[in-house]
Amino acid sequence: MQFLSRKARTVLPYTAGEQLRDRQYVKLNTNENPYPPSPRVTEALARVAGDDLRRYPRPDAGLLRAAVAEREGVSPENVFCGNGSDEVLALSFPAFFDGDGAGACFADITYSFYEVFASFFGIPHTVVPLRGDFTLDLAAMQQTPCRGYYIANPNAPTGIGVHRDAMEAFVAAAKDKIVIADEAYMDFFGESLAPLTKRYPNLLVVKTFSKSYSLAGIRCGYAVGDAALIEGLFRMKDCFNSYPVDAVCEAVCTAALSDEGYHQRTTARIVQERERLRGALLALGFTVPKSDANFLFAGRAARSGKEIYTRLKQEGVLVRFWDKPVLRDFCRITVGTPEENDVLLQKLENILK
Ligand code: PMP
Repeated sequence: MQFLSRKARTVLPYTAGEQLRDRQYVKLNTNENPYPPSPRVTEALARVAGDDLRRYPRPDAGLLRAAVAEREGVSPENVFCGNGSDEVLALSFPAFFDGDGAGACFADITYSFYEVFASFFGIPHTVVPLRGDFTLDLAAMQQTPCRGYYIANPNAPTGIGVHRDAMEAFVAAAKDKIVIADEAYMDFFGESLAPLTKRYPNLLVVKTFSKSYSLAGIRCGYAVGDAALIEGLFRMKDCFNSYPVDAVCEAVCTAALSDEGYHQRTTARIVQERERLRGALLALGFTVPKSDANFLFAGRAARSGKEIYTRLKQEGVLVRFWDKPVLRDFCRITVGTPEENDVLLQKLENILK
């Protein structure tokens, strides 16, 4: 400890979901996609070789940037790519917030990395409680003095999304405050604000390849926004790492984007299965808010989230549990394949007997 800085000694790091390899699990704990990535990804992997790996990659991930711009209907200057959307979000804190004055505002129950980043970068932050039905209290957030907002849409771990119209009204009212819309799960909802970044210079949309593109292992995410915001992210990136998107990552993600048909088919299967799984959980007596993501937030009266999580783990099924107020009554369950979900449901039935 004596060699560590005060920051290293006192910081509270983010706790990622378990990545256990000790046995074969039905793994429904980190919102991964149950389907493999597009076959074009495998082809791209075979192609990246020799010269691609001998050389440094493009510092702006230019090839991928152009492909993302095409997908989102913007120009490459409106796109920033990073090592997972976690890195893009991390860089956004020093890019758009200062250590003094009005800081960042986000919900009390949302992606817990926002709090970690804000603390790490020494940025003041205010948390606004969700309403009783787990929806975001956008009106209360609007009243909160701050320099900008982080809104996970759909929110995690509740899975609840805010429709585009309501989000646009929020962005318009925010005016000189920046709104960072974390759309990690947006493809399962289909209400992205990305097209609106052309009209609102205070809107930054952050997305990822980890969920709907089945590429959590490659680590890639991106931001879409006004060129001035993107420039801010580049300035921060170039203080940390010149090449966060490596050559393999760039080739793989570009290939995934080229197969929109595959992306839509797998996403639709997950959305359909989400509805079936929710119905089955409700039938087992769980409380499950309607989800717009690839996971469900499920709690059962008289059974703690910890009990459900622990018993399922013993049975070889991993779900996510947080020992925190409100969250401790629930588990977050990723939508798996129909077969995986059937295993989950059968184990739950036994546990509840
Ligand atoms: N935002 C939200 C809301 C998430 O749940 C996650 C996944 N943990 C991320 C961002 C980060 O995803 P990634 O770094 O894999 O792009």
